This record gives sequence, C-alpha cells and structure tokens, in this order.
Amino acid sequence: MSYSNSITFGPIASRRFGISLGIDLSPSSKQCNFDCLYCELEGAKTVSKMTEYPSVEEVISEIKKSFLKNEKIDVITLTANGEPTLYPKLDELVDEINKIKNNTKTLILSNGSTIYKEDTFKTLLKIDTVKLSLDCVSEKCFKKLDRTDKSIEIDKIVPSMIDFSQKTKNDFVLEILFVKDLNDKDDEIALLYNAVKKINPKRVDIGTIDRPPAYKVKPVSYKTLEKVANIFKGINVNIVYKNRPKLLGSYSKDDIVQTLKRRPLTIEDIENLFDEESKNKLEELVKNSKISLVDSSGVKFYKNL
Ligand code: SF4
Repeated sequence: MSYSNSITFGPIASRRFGISLGIDLSPSSKQCNFDCLYCELEGAKTVSKMTEYPSVEEVISEIKKSFLKNEKIDVITLTANGEPTLYPKLDELVDEINKIKNNTKTLILSNGSTIYKEDTFKTLLKIDTVKLSLDCVSEKCFKKLDRTDKSIEIDKIVPSMIDFSQKTKNDFVLEILFVKDLNDKDDEIALLYNAVKKINPKRVDIGTIDRPPAYKVKPVSYKTLEKVANIFKGINVNIVYKNRPKLLGSYSKDDIVQTLKRRPLTIEDIENLFDEESKNKLEELVKNSKISLVDSSGVKFYKNL
C-alpha cells in the first residue's frame, strides 16, 4: 500500500514554531494506545503498536519533495492519526531526518505514554522539541479520561518524564488538557502540580476541549484554567483558550513584581489582564532589568527572575 499522498500535510504557519511541515505516521487509520474522551478523531479501540504504517523511505522521500517545493520550512512536526511513538521505525526515521534537515527543527507531539520505554526515551532525546501530554497522574483518572491501553505501565510515566527532563539538552514542553468533572478536581490538580514541579519542563500549555470531542464530554471554563495557572506557582504556564475574556485591571509596579514572582505571564496574559498604564509600568520594569522577557520554546514570558 502506498501512503505517499497522505504522509505530509502543510506546510502551515504556526504561531510558535514558524512554518511547519506536518508528518502523519499513521495516515491510513487511527492507531493509538489511548482512546481519550476528548479526542478530535473518532473513538477507536486502543492498540499497543502500529500495524499499518509508511516505510522510512516513503516518509523521507515525501519530506524531500516538500523541501524542494517550499523554500522555507522551520520545523518538521512528527505526529500521527494516533500516537507517533508507536511508529515502529521512529528511531531510524529521526536519524534519517536529522541527516537531511539542515537548519530545520524537529518537533514531536506525543501523548507521553511510552516515555518509560528505553528505545523511545533515547529517540526522543534526538528531537529538538518534545511536547508530551500529561492529563492525569492518578491511575483512576488516566483510565477514565485517556482510556489507556492495558499495555501501558501508568506508574512509570511521571518518573520517566522527570528523568527525561534532566537528561535532554533540547526543549521539553508539557501539555495538559482539562475536561470538566474529570481531571479538574482539586486532588488531581494537586497531583499534577506536584508532578509538574518535579518534571520541571520548559513550559506547560494548559487548555481544554475546543473541537468536537469523540465522546460526550465538556470543556472547563477559562476561570478554571486560570485557577490552575495560579496553583502552578513559579512554572511557565501558557493558557491556551479560544476567545478568552479580557479582565483588564490596574497594577502598581509592586503588584507587577509580586504577581510575576508567583506566576510568569505570557504576552497574551498581559494583553488580557493589564490596562495601558499597567503595561507601561511593566515596560519600565523591563527597561530597568527588574523584570525579564524570556522565550520558552516559542512562547514569551514576563518573569521576575
Ligand atoms: S492520545 Fe491523541 S490521538 Fe490518541 S486518543 Fe488521545 S487525543 Fe486521540
């Protein structure tokens, strides 16, 4: 079976990473070891490995064709109709991409469930940006929300993420998707905060459902995401929420310093929270080196360092 027409998608302009060429390592059907309630794809029986997949040669040939057609590709994004780390030749593929990519970066979007497998762990170390999901810490929540395949050893996921974060020299970003009445309860949020503190990724993106989900589940409110961001003290939390409400307030310089001590804020946060006068005060603090604007894998944060 030839997959050539469906392996690559884009390139598309992505806000964080520039021009991104997407690679679908499971173009024929959904092959995932999760069956998340919020999945944008239709629900499907979980699998522990991919059985239908394009060859490394096919993927590389499609990437080369895209390089010829498109002058500038900033990032090659490895993804799948399902879970890309279940692609059996991932290590070989990453090595081959690294041989031809020149200045292009590599990014993988994974559900994080295979990080404790030695071969996956080693392969992920070779990718420029690794973005892993972590919706739950407790086994009960993983089983209810992400509906994990029975092959997954849930208790090994967080310890391996901690280990990976310490070993990688590249960018490691976490993503948490909150679903109403599932992982938005105080005890699960506390477990997540403890895990995230230990994992210490460059950034945590928190969001909720914004496309039709596979099963009947509901998004959490913006308020809930903001509550989580405030609980996750000192961590670079990027709230991803469509049409977030503007709640403009006035802040003194001291308020700004204290607020940023508790929680770094993104440019988008500032636009939604600070009135003009407060923004001017913030710029003065940056000029006087009291506050820094730092880039965290494509998202800029104001931080009190
Ligand atoms: S891990 Fe991703 S692809 Fe797999 S079920 Fe969950 S949302 Fe869907």
